[in-house]
Amino acid sequence: MRLVLVAADPALNRSLASLLEARGHEVAGFQSWTVARRQMETQSHANGLIVVEAGSDTPGPEICWEARLLASDEQPVYICLISRPLSSRDFIEALDCGADDVLQLPLSSDELYARLRAAQRLIQAQRKLFDMATRDSLTGLFNRPAFFDRATKLCREAEAPLAAIMIDIDHFKSVNDRHGHAGGDKALRAVADCLKAGGDIVGRIGGEEFALLVEGGDAGAVFRSADGLRQHIAGQEISVGATILRLTCSFGVAIGERSENIDELLRKADWALYAAKRSGRNKVALFETERARAFSRPDSTIRVPGPRSIALG
Ligand code: GH3
Ligand code: MG
Ligand code: MG
Repeated sequence: MRLVLVAADPALNRSLASLLEARGHEVAGFQSWTVARRQMETQSHANGLIVVEAGSDTPGPEICWEARLLASDEQPVYICLISRPLSSRDFIEALDCGADDVLQLPLSSDELYARLRAAQRLIQAQRKLFDMATRDSLTGLFNRPAFFDRATKLCREAEAPLAAIMIDIDHFKSVNDRHGHAGGDKALRAVADCLKAGGDIVGRIGGEEFALLVEGGDAGAVFRSADGLRQHIAGQEISVGATILRLTCSFGVAIGERSENIDELLRKADWALYAAKRSGRNKVALFETERARAFSRPDSTIRVPGPRSIALG
């Protein structure tokens, strides 16, 4: 496991660290919880925390409580408090404050190892469950709820402007008809692989629909990046049995405005996508905000700039 170890006594800190490292654990040792907490806040790699309460700058239950707040479904953390022998009430308090285990001195190294093996099993199961709940099993991209969770949070917190790109595979029904459902699935995976690195948050939000949230408010740059993805997908040769499958996608791009939420942003990108479809598919359409204010009909607010222009409205 990747462990943060807090023990005020330097000699104890070193001996515990080598005990843990001997069993393959990665250990970052600290003598103070205040410093360790800062490390956990900024570098969230740790999946375990071991705290020796003796001499600590903060009471054990308080450390457990603060560490529990740093953990999340996505980043589970096993918390183990090592303390002097406790009364039943103090023991219960430590558990209620977020400790997964409370080991009492004198410490048995075999027990510590066994507790860590159990913790590792639990953390792995938790991670697997989390992945199953948030990832689309076919493509490995975020599923719809996970995409919206993350996108909502990013829209709320991002300081730089955001852009959304919506993608829909063209005539996908006929891909299935010609190459079978398994061929269609292979095509979905190939498209997802092309999109994986194309945005800060990438999700499969419908059957053959994908969405990307990108940090950046430069319409030209986002448009060019979407067009690069479009070309990349169109150039793929996906082998299905003895045949080669080729497909294209239509893209809708929208640049976020201040305090816009993800639903509004995606609605604009979806309108642009609709325009790209109507103009013949395998195109990128950009939603133009000012014109959107001026017209009530959504499709008259969209255009594709540059050489791939679509006359609308
Ligand atoms: P358009 O260019 O207008 O988007 O046409 P289209 O055929 O892509 O769109 P339509 O909505 O008519 O069809 C989408 C198809 O996607 C229908 C559905 O069977 C297929 N589909 C949805 N999810 C999956 C999936 O997980 N695997 C496979 N193989 N097909 C899927
Ligand atoms: Mg569709
Ligand atoms: Mg489609």
